Amino acid sequence: MKYVSTRGQAPALGFEDTLLGGLAPDGGLYFPESWPQISAEQLASWRTASYADIAKQVMAPFVAGAIDTATFEAMVDETYASFTHKAVAPLKQLDEKVWFMELFHGPTLAFKDYALQLVGRMFDHVLAKRGQRLTVVGATSGDTGSAAIAACAGLENVDITILFPKGRVSPVQQRQMTTVDADNVRCIALEGTFDDCQDRVKDMFNDAAFRAEVGLGAVNSINWGRVMAQIVYYAVAAARLAAADRPIDISVPTGNYGNVLAGYCAKRMGLPIARLGVATNRNDILTRFLEQADMSIRPVETSLAPSMDIQISSNFERYLFEVMDRDGAAVDQVMREFRSSGKLTLAQGVWELCHGDFSAYRLDDVGILSEIKRVMLETGEVLDPHSIVSVSQAQNDARFENPVVAMGTAHPAKFPDAVQKAVGLRPGLPAHMSELFERPERYDVMANDLNALQDFVRANRRA
Ligand SMILES: *Cc1c(COP(=O)(O)O)cnc(C)c1O
Repeated sequence: MKYVSTRGQAPALGFEDTLLGGLAPDGGLYFPESWPQISAEQLASWRTASYADIAKQVMAPFVAGAIDTATFEAMVDETYASFTHKAVAPLKQLDEKVWFMELFHGPTLAFKDYALQLVGRMFDHVLAKRGQRLTVVGATSGDTGSAAIAACAGLENVDITILFPKGRVSPVQQRQMTTVDADNVRCIALEGTFDDCQDRVKDMFNDAAFRAEVGLGAVNSINWGRVMAQIVYYAVAAARLAAADRPIDISVPTGNYGNVLAGYCAKRMGLPIARLGVATNRNDILTRFLEQADMSIRPVETSLAPSMDIQISSNFERYLFEVMDRDGAAVDQVMREFRSSGKLTLAQGVWELCHGDFSAYRLDDVGILSEIKRVMLETGEVLDPHSIVSVSQAQNDARFENPVVAMGTAHPAKFPDAVQKAVGLRPGLPAHMSELFERPERYDVMANDLNALQDFVRANRRA
């Protein structure tokens, strides 16, 4: 499979270069040149297949020509064998129409594990093959750092340093990063805010000499490997609940659009998915766009669902590329104008297509709390402040005409304060993580000083 840029001005790449590269040189994002098709027979044959077996078949065409089949299948088996539920992504029925897919049975209790655990292994494999090493540096406000660390811990050819704002991440989030015992992992508690962390990481990436010296890389949400691996659980949902002539709808708690985009890719691959729900918190740029054709940037506000506190959803560009008939030049023009004016303006008819594919939904903090309580009283399920947004949409959005799968993106124990506020009880960690607060922590406290941070990253590379 070859991958093309959404801005149409960069050469097509193979899977390996797409995996390791970030933005295309023309500023676009890589996307598969064509959509492999999943037949009705194939879908039917997956009804009782394991997650790993479905994963191998869904992803095979995307890695074809880059990673050989036996190696890839072994990686997939190893990845999902470490998840703590036998079904990997189990479905729970909440009412006559709505199923909840739990995507929090990986090492950090959030859906990002489902892709990152595999992407880390693929990185290591491709780097080894090429005799290269990578230094991953990232900033986190809590959630994404632990998933990146869990993905990279123990890899031979990758070192990782994560910056988090000192005293501003929750104790569970901090310990999920600082108690990982691997010699290629470093955590820095920066004396500053999350924005400071992010700015210093950006500075490092903008320092070309430093970037080359340490082989700086990222595993961020624009990485095609992540989107690819996320397609799998949409296929699993369809395999369990749908058939070629009996589609399902799906609602997804959305921030950077990476997860719901994978659902759209699944649909393009022929899976019987009718409508996709884009469920947002008070940072509702996508909801405003899909309801009123208004995509104008407002300041990001903090909410009870912090992993969705995003205004510019970077993966949206990939969807635009599709819906604009893969006209890279037109995408380039629209995106440039969006960046400069803060407003997205589309050609006649394009918004109507977006409105047809997706249904939008929003819950502010008050809604998040009251819906967590309602769903607990009605179903007994205690949901986290991200997952509740999709469940609420699944139960309330009249545009869903089929059985709906609501994606559960985090375990409630990751956000105990919000859950306690909603229902008055504190969700416990799953048994396999109960010793999190006994393990020793390992991190360095550092000042907000670029030179010192760069020295730290240099000194902690293993090569
Ligand atoms: C990252 C994240 C999201 C948002 O996913 P996107 O792919 O950025 O849309 C939602 N919920 C949780 C718990 C997350 O960690």
